[in-house]
Amino acid sequence: MNYYSTNKKTSAVSLQEAVVKGLAADKGLFMPATVETLPQEFYDSIDTLSFQETAFRVAEAFFGEDVPADVLRQIVCDTLNFDVPLVRVTEDVYSLELFHGPTLAFKDVGARFMARLLGYFIRKERHGQVDVLVATSGDTGSAVANGFLGVEGIRVHVLYPQGKVSEIQEKQFTTLGRNITAIEVDGTFDDCQALVKAAFMDEELNRHLSLTSANSINVARFLPQAFYYFYAYAQLKRIGKAQNVVVCVPSGNFGNITAGLFAKKMGLPVKRFIAANNRNDIFYRYLQTGTYTPRPSIATIANAMDVGDPSNFARIIDLYGNSHAAITADISGATYTDEQIRETVAQTWRTSGYLLDPHGACGYRALSESLQPGETGIFLETAHPAKFLETVEGIVGERVEVPAKLQAFMKGEKRSLPMHKDFASFKRYLLSL
Ligand SMILES: *Cc1c(COP(=O)(O)O)cnc(C)c1O
Repeated sequence: MNYYSTNKKTSAVSLQEAVVKGLAADKGLFMPATVETLPQEFYDSIDTLSFQETAFRVAEAFFGEDVPADVLRQIVCDTLNFDVPLVRVTEDVYSLELFHGPTLAFKDVGARFMARLLGYFIRKERHGQVDVLVATSGDTGSAVANGFLGVEGIRVHVLYPQGKVSEIQEKQFTTLGRNITAIEVDGTFDDCQALVKAAFMDEELNRHLSLTSANSINVARFLPQAFYYFYAYAQLKRIGKAQNVVVCVPSGNFGNITAGLFAKKMGLPVKRFIAANNRNDIFYRYLQTGTYTPRPSIATIANAMDVGDPSNFARIIDLYGNSHAAITADISGATYTDEQIRETVAQTWRTSGYLLDPHGACGYRALSESLQPGETGIFLETAHPAKFLETVEGIVGERVEVPAKLQAFMKGEKRSLPMHKDFASFKRYLLSL
């Protein structure tokens, strides 16, 4: 299947090119040429399928033309070696727990899938070595580094701002070793991003190395997120609650919710979506006014959603043919202050005994406030609360148990390469590889 650019100023490319390039030449985002509706028979029997089998059927619709079935099945099974359980929180509200992967956040799904698909293309082309550059303010680095760990033919270089990521986050990508190098830049996240961008533009480097990015806009990271929407529906169907399903997604760059909108387009019976925002309410305002006005992001306690110009907005616009009416028919919005997020975490813990993380709290609250009689709601719990230990313990006033997986990272030894923020040092490093 071909992938076209949302800017429509370049011709469509193959899956392989879309995955290796990440962004289209005209700076648009890649979109699959067709979105296949899955057969009724699939939806009728979905509650009898495993997560991996469900995901494979969805993956085939997008990647089946370009990747042999046995390879694709293996990629899906390797990616999803953890569960995504649906957990009841109140009468009609369920949490889709996306935090059971290696770094305890939903980005594990996309990062693991992309690593394996890219690995397949590299082996197929006998490409030698590919170098993935990724700048991170915390969570992306850990998901990408762990997703690519041990994948043959790929070296990953994670650039992060010294002293500006939490200790837990830092440990998740500086303790891995093998094909992962953590580069500690004496600057800000923006400096890290600027270094990565400059490297992609540098002709000499591109002659010397095959550079690619593992950015969240990559189709191989973004589309696999559709898998768990189908599995969430299947789990509701098993308990006879699959009518009038409403799905609420805590959103920042809007990749996660866009994957859900693709699932709906493939026929998944979701009645409507809710995009829950923190104070970064650019999309919320677009829904209210029809005007999209990016603004600099505001720091909040749900920091993975601190985005002032959501990159996947272009995909939503494209998917709905640029119709504000069509978008608002399927999606509503909500926006919460840090104070409201705190209140929600505390109250839900007190009344239901369910511990939300600050991102999931936006989702839970938006869903609870909007759910109508006869509807069943799912919100996406995008990270484990222990990833935001200080914040969450401060809110509930109790010790929060840290999962063994997270503790194991904490025990590892940090290894990083100090780097000056000027491009010359970074270029020297890359040329020496
Ligand atoms: C990345 C992230 C989000 C936002 O997801 P988008 O796909 O960017 O909308 C929400 N919650 C957590 C915990 C995240 O890490």
